[in-house]
Amino acid sequence: MSRLVAFAAIQGGYNIVSKVEGMYKKALATYNADTKVGFPNTAYYLPVIYSLLGMKVETLEDMKKPLDFARGLLPPHVKGSHHLPYLGPLLDAGMAALFAFEIQEAIRYLNEPDFYLHSEDIDQDAGKIWLGAADDTVFRKRGVEFVDGSAPGFAAIVGAAPNPEIAKLIVEEYQKRSLYIFLAANQNGTTVAEQLLEAGVQIGWNTRIVPFGPDISSAIFALGFANRAAMAFGGIKPGDYKRMLLYNKDRVFAFVNALGEVNAEWAAAAAGCVNWGFPTLSDTDIPEILPTGICTYEHVVANVPHDEMVQRSVEVRGLKVTVSKIDIPCSFGPAYEGERVRGADLYCQMGGGKSTATELVKMAEMNEIEDGKVEVIGPDIKDIKPGTSFSLGIYVQIAGREFQTDFEPILERQIHHLVNYIQSVMHIGQRDIAWVRVSKAAVEKGFSLKDIGVVLHAKFHQDFQKIVDKVQVTLYTKQEDVDKLTKRAREEYRTRDERVEKMTDESVETYYSCTLCQSFAPNHVCTVSPERTGLCGAYNWMDCKASFEINPTGPNQPIEKGECLDPVLGQWKGVNDFIFKASRGAVTHYNFYSMIKDPMTTCGCCEAIAATLPTCNGVMTVHRDYSGETPCGMKFTTLAGVMGGGASSPGFVGHSKFNITQGKFLKGDGGLLRMVWMPKSLKEEIKDRIIKRGTALGYPNLYDMIADETVGITEEEIMPFLQKVGHPALTMPSLLE
Ligand code: SF4
Ligand code: ZN
Repeated sequence: MSRLVAFAAIQGGYNIVSKVEGMYKKALATYNADTKVGFPNTAYYLPVIYSLLGMKVETLEDMKKPLDFARGLLPPHVKGSHHLPYLGPLLDAGMAALFAFEIQEAIRYLNEPDFYLHSEDIDQDAGKIWLGAADDTVFRKRGVEFVDGSAPGFAAIVGAAPNPEIAKLIVEEYQKRSLYIFLAANQNGTTVAEQLLEAGVQIGWNTRIVPFGPDISSAIFALGFANRAAMAFGGIKPGDYKRMLLYNKDRVFAFVNALGEVNAEWAAAAAGCVNWGFPTLSDTDIPEILPTGICTYEHVVANVPHDEMVQRSVEVRGLKVTVSKIDIPCSFGPAYEGERVRGADLYCQMGGGKSTATELVKMAEMNEIEDGKVEVIGPDIKDIKPGTSFSLGIYVQIAGREFQTDFEPILERQIHHLVNYIQSVMHIGQRDIAWVRVSKAAVEKGFSLKDIGVVLHAKFHQDFQKIVDKVQVTLYTKQEDVDKLTKRAREEYRTRDERVEKMTDESVETYYSCTLCQSFAPNHVCTVSPERTGLCGAYNWMDCKASFEINPTGPNQPIEKGECLDPVLGQWKGVNDFIFKASRGAVTHYNFYSMIKDPMTTCGCCEAIAATLPTCNGVMTVHRDYSGETPCGMKFTTLAGVMGGGASSPGFVGHSKFNITQGKFLKGDGGLLRMVWMPKSLKEEIKDRIIKRGTALGYPNLYDMIADETVGITEEEIMPFLQKVGHPALTMPSLLE
């Protein structure tokens, strides 16, 4: 903290208190001491004084007590020899100034009862543009918006911008973020309110741009408004100043923008606002108060360029951006999630076997990315011929003061349903096996790949306010770029998967549900344990845990596993109770470790599907990328079609690729040693892990014993091979007993 700003603010505090004491004396000489004073039509007296000090100022006489209190708060002057005053005295001086301001405004109401208009709207023709204190009717109507979230808070702008255009630019940016804009004070006689009128902007409570008054003292109406909200809706008792200030700090996202030269009085007011946790950002060179402590981040930030004022304010206050409108040519919403894009309607597609589609969400530094930037690198839909298939890389970078790499997979998994929300566009799968189908109808409306980025930016802000500050999206369509992204993404997926590697199901008491897929498979509930990752492969136990932390009422709920009903098949009472409810009674129980006996339900996202091969006394599995025939007589797509609707289908189960080599995989049916057939590409993809797991099970050469399509695609064809290599499944107990 700078000595200079402390000096200015403390000096300002003295000036203001002395000035108001003078006004008060004069008022006492003019009116009787029992003359009624106060703001119009309110039950909250002078609300800042009432809320923080518990003092009801009803008459001129009543002003003495809070004014004396303000005087008492003034700290000793900062002397030249004190080089680093601490924050306390500065905040006290600021608070004293604010109490004095409130009295000053009450005296103005007494002296000039018509100075302020008693209305929600200004009367420009009559030259009346200052609205003063909001009465209780306006307050109730508007204050509730601060509580229900429709207005996250307010920007208090004091002074004037260099010109009306800049004033308009700043204010409109705040409007877009649903903030109220409270205007006070002037800079050499010019005010933002007048500048806005000049620029043709409508002001008044209805446009959320509220011109309080032309003097710095009128800024007190903003704080009075905030404190009334805390009393009326937050249940804070008058006089409970600690909770009052904390409530504001935690619940009301407000800050001050000081435009123009900051004099001692403004500095005092800024210091006062720090008590509320409201920081000040100025466009001029005032000494900064950067260390954090009371405000979420910095307290006073100087020299902010006008075109960065809004973004910086929002960052410094820790305010979360809400993007209310999703600006794309197609309709958008959950209603379109389940909609398919069938062959005849198809315009083009990305991924799904014929090309690659990969998704990756990565954390970025705050200054590394630009919020809302969406770039398509390579040809877009308008550049390609109808009926084509091309590769797509969706790369999302997210920055946030509260963001962690643990959250990456959670946001990445949202891409599925969010892209599905776009009318006439369909999304299947995840990670590097995504599949996007775009219909002719969407293209007719003007759909572009850019819209995917627009949607992700908007929805990530909306749905993950707490952790997301900036979102930048890059869409790659050139094969080489997609390949590069895919390679990098696979490394990331591996790192994520391995986070649960050393955990066991026995080591935790809590599993997590996942009901993200219920829009497609209404009865489907994944239960994710350390040793059974989500069948989509995108969610493991760690991810679900992080997801629950971010969104405690979201799709990933903790499940106390409770009494173990069957340790071999993997069944718990707590899980059964949960899935019964979550499937609305459709599923009463299931086993984690068996595909034969009441397996877990499967939705259409599964990375792979296992099926029994009775002749071989074993099982096979096939992943989404393999489009050929398999020994169970069905291709992946047929299998997915048969059992992807959220049912438990004995003899089959959907699972993630990673799960194949986890310790509990099909343990109830004999485990990985039952595996007699896999597509070659899948086998190769997880080769190291199969060898490792096989070794642990006493079969270091298990990898070589598992048949693939080069051996055969029917049970008859692979049987001789299994016999030749002495596959362990052949000597295991009968599979179907
Ligand atoms: Fe969640 Fe399961 Fe769907 Fe994956 S497949 S998103 S774990 S419900
Ligand atoms: Zn699913």
